[in-house]
Amino acid sequence: MDVDVLIIGAGPAGLSAAIRLKQKLSALKMDASVVVLDKAAQPGYHNLSGAAFEAACLDELLPGWRTEAGSFFSEMVPVQEDELYFLAPGGKALRFPEIIVPGGMKHKGDYLISLSRLVAWLKEKAEKAGVDVYTGLSARELIWDKNAVKGVRLVDQGRNKDGGKGENFQAGEEVLAKVTILADGSRGVLSREYSAKIGGNVNPQVYSIGIKQVFKLPPQNNFGANRVIHTLGFPSRPDVFGGGFFYSMGQNHLAAGLILGLDWKYTDLNPEQEFEYLKTHPFVAKLLEGAQLVAAGAKTIPEGGFFALPRLWTDGALVAGDGAGFVNMEKIKGIHYAVLSGMSAADAVAEAWGKGDCSADSLASYEQNLEARGVLKDLRHAKNYRAVFQWGVLFGAPLSRIQAFMPLRIPMGLDHEHTTRGASLKRNFTPAVNRETFASLSGTFHREDEPSHLIIPDNDICQRCQKELQSPCTAFCPVEVYRWKPEGVHISASNCVHCGTCAVKCPFQNIVWTPPEGGEGPKYKMM
Ligand code: SF4
Repeated sequence: MDVDVLIIGAGPAGLSAAIRLKQKLSALKMDASVVVLDKAAQPGYHNLSGAAFEAACLDELLPGWRTEAGSFFSEMVPVQEDELYFLAPGGKALRFPEIIVPGGMKHKGDYLISLSRLVAWLKEKAEKAGVDVYTGLSARELIWDKNAVKGVRLVDQGRNKDGGKGENFQAGEEVLAKVTILADGSRGVLSREYSAKIGGNVNPQVYSIGIKQVFKLPPQNNFGANRVIHTLGFPSRPDVFGGGFFYSMGQNHLAAGLILGLDWKYTDLNPEQEFEYLKTHPFVAKLLEGAQLVAAGAKTIPEGGFFALPRLWTDGALVAGDGAGFVNMEKIKGIHYAVLSGMSAADAVAEAWGKGDCSADSLASYEQNLEARGVLKDLRHAKNYRAVFQWGVLFGAPLSRIQAFMPLRIPMGLDHEHTTRGASLKRNFTPAVNRETFASLSGTFHREDEPSHLIIPDNDICQRCQKELQSPCTAFCPVEVYRWKPEGVHISASNCVHCGTCAVKCPFQNIVWTPPEGGEGPKYKMM
């Protein structure tokens, strides 16, 4: 299959790039086929975020979108109340006075949204603009010619458990393109392959895990509407980076979750259970009184920021959105950077297309476009924000106020290197929601008789890991895919929600996450 412009990932970056590119080409009286591929069964099914959204980016992408019939704008909840609390272990909740809340953590002017719903709406916009959006197609690897990207190779469909060809076997196609935009999200398989080969980052990429649940609220509830609450403190110890969030989703629903930096040292830290523990705090329990859990999911967030960005373009390819690492940890936001970087990539491609030259030199205007839209300026301002927290919250919190003025880069290590022998939380607590229920609330699905997409290259390493660290994978996977058995780690790959945590956090880097067949994985409809 040959296309002109191929976009991997139908998320906010990929769909914004596709829409913008069609608009630009039409304004320049040119045409090109623009094809978007996504591994999810439907657009939005693999997209998860809090999410507080800076919506102005859509004014440039889709002028007039706020007032048109059927607009996503009608689903967006403007933030009117914005609160930050410290939760003490004894049950007290202390509200931070607004004057000391950092500017990046203020949310008045933002809108609370479901990212999976935004993506479903953007897909309709893209198709109306003439883009071909294909879901259920999983890309396995890039096709290279030296440092030039020539296209992608898709995952085979219909293999048996032993890897042999099943009845419905279909070999993964090659999709060749003049230019490819990689927008496959956090821990995207192709954007990681791209970054590993092209390089350019001076710090390694680091991640957090975001656990999210959606609740249906009773008509009379303690949360109200148009409200944002962030929490620090309980249940995390000061050496664990992260906090809780509670966002209105209209009058009837509430999104709640916990974000934890994956550089924790504890061998038994179970992020899903930590969120359940947070829900037992009297302040949170009161907010959730009468609430009914209706959906759940998890996702990694790239936190490395400016110093972890790879070189953003090469011959025949650019990388955008979370796949590039466009997340500002000072604001804990990435969606508007995904939209803006997608548009910036599209502008560079349109210009290159006009010249008939998709070489790296021709695509270099991507950087100026990102500067013009303020994406790189924001990331530069937050350049050491995450790094100052690597020594704990007590040290990081004051330094985070001055990090923007630090002239030097603070180096960071990889997340898995922080796991420490003998460090454990030893929680004595029975969660209200277990990880099996959590998995079922994500709607995740994989064929039981296909090869596992989670690969452990060396079982002997697992034996050593069990002896030294008690197999942290059995704790850190939010849906308990890994269980310890005397013969080694047992994998229930069908439960995987594609969060990406295991490949980051395995202390011996002995887990390889490969893309399963297209159309599998979670089915997020409200995330
Ligand atoms: Fe996430 Fe890995 Fe567990 Fe899948 S197996 S849900 S990617 S930690």
